[in-house]
Amino acid sequence: MSKTHQPAAATLAIHAGYRKDPTTGAVAVPIYQTTAYQFESTDYASDLFALKTFGNIYTRVMNPTNDALEQRLAAVEGGVAALAVSSGQAATALALQNVAHAGDNIVASTDLYGGSWNLLANTFRTLGIETRFVDPADPENFRRAADARTRAFYGETLPNPKLQVFPIAEVAAIGEELGIPLVMDNTAAPVLCRPFDHGAHIVVYSATKYIGGHGTSIGGAIIDSGRFDWEKHADRFPMLNQPDPSYHGAVWTQAVKPIGPVAYIIKARVTLQRDLGFALSPFNAFQFIQGLETLPLRMREHSRNAAAVAEFLSEHPAVTRVIHPSLFKGEAKRRAEAYMKGGQGGLVGLELAGGMAAGKRFIDALKLFYHVANIGDVRSLAIHPASTTHSQLSEAEQRKTGVNPSYVRLSVGIEDIADILADLDQALEAAGSPALAA
Ligand code: PLP
Repeated sequence: MSKTHQPAAATLAIHAGYRKDPTTGAVAVPIYQTTAYQFESTDYASDLFALKTFGNIYTRVMNPTNDALEQRLAAVEGGVAALAVSSGQAATALALQNVAHAGDNIVASTDLYGGSWNLLANTFRTLGIETRFVDPADPENFRRAADARTRAFYGETLPNPKLQVFPIAEVAAIGEELGIPLVMDNTAAPVLCRPFDHGAHIVVYSATKYIGGHGTSIGGAIIDSGRFDWEKHADRFPMLNQPDPSYHGAVWTQAVKPIGPVAYIIKARVTLQRDLGFALSPFNAFQFIQGLETLPLRMREHSRNAAAVAEFLSEHPAVTRVIHPSLFKGEAKRRAEAYMKGGQGGLVGLELAGGMAAGKRFIDALKLFYHVANIGDVRSLAIHPASTTHSQLSEAEQRKTGVNPSYVRLSVGIEDIADILADLDQALEAAGSPALAA
């Protein structure tokens, strides 16, 4: 192997960050189910707390199993460091609170997961952090909404239900000009899209979805590209450039300089993770490590199956509309092709001729697909948002978010495609839409 050879994601997902257990030689990453760690001396203990040396102190802040996951995620994503947390929600909250305080604002895409929207619109408001939601169809909307108190831009790579890929490079470039980092939620497109390759500065994940893949564990992660220049924008980011009273006056951009451009992620770990306690259990970290090993393989299969489902549905007489990146035209198509490599993800939307009633009948008739509020599982999943996840919204509000009354969201799994299509076919027949009956 040449010295400049860079391993690909499929290799890094299996090998990065851990080779073997130093004492037993175990090849699988052990579950270090421990709360605390023996300090070898009082001097060593005080050096750890003073950040003069880095090592394990307490599992709320760091753990060797979580560390293997963090290193592997950072490597796969092309970042410098990561912090594993207890959920995707925790990842978004912590990633943004690490730079935004009361009186500050965030400019966020309107196309977000409902939980993220609520966190930003309601919970952050109670903390004094304002979120300005803008339509990502025009990236310049981010510039228009920003001001001197804007601390981050926030978007989702492949947001459902619209499935219109976010203009990562365009918004990241505006952020570079203004001194505002772009935080991307890449939950629906791991491996297929690496937001750092397009200029994004921070990536967050719900590991609960594709990274785990097996639907067993809730978790999340924040990954730092190390490429945002916090010192250059010291006025905008006093929390990283001025003495932090919560850590005996540490100036984060200076304190961690000897170990690399990791001020953002170290601050998140040793202040917010310490104080808010979004710790990921080592057992769940182990589950995500198992998932990560096959993630590149699974993303290819999810994408292949979803593209076949989109094609099948677009030719079916009971289906009035299919939403999948492969079917877009114009700028939406260009973005999907520019940002998604090796597949366009596992999500597909469909609308039925028979409206809300047909959507519900279709879901009830599915046999292979599970009816659940989740995505990214190896199993095929379906939900009817108008009667479940979006049922608290009026019909007009639902339509604004891209949810029509008959809309069904599919998270296409990695079962054999013939079985997936057979299940969809029989459920469409059972839904008995007027178009089918005609
Ligand atoms: N981001 C996206 C895109 C999601 O779909 C979800 C959950 O559905 C989350 C974040 C939140 O993740 P979690 O459920 O792990 O808290």
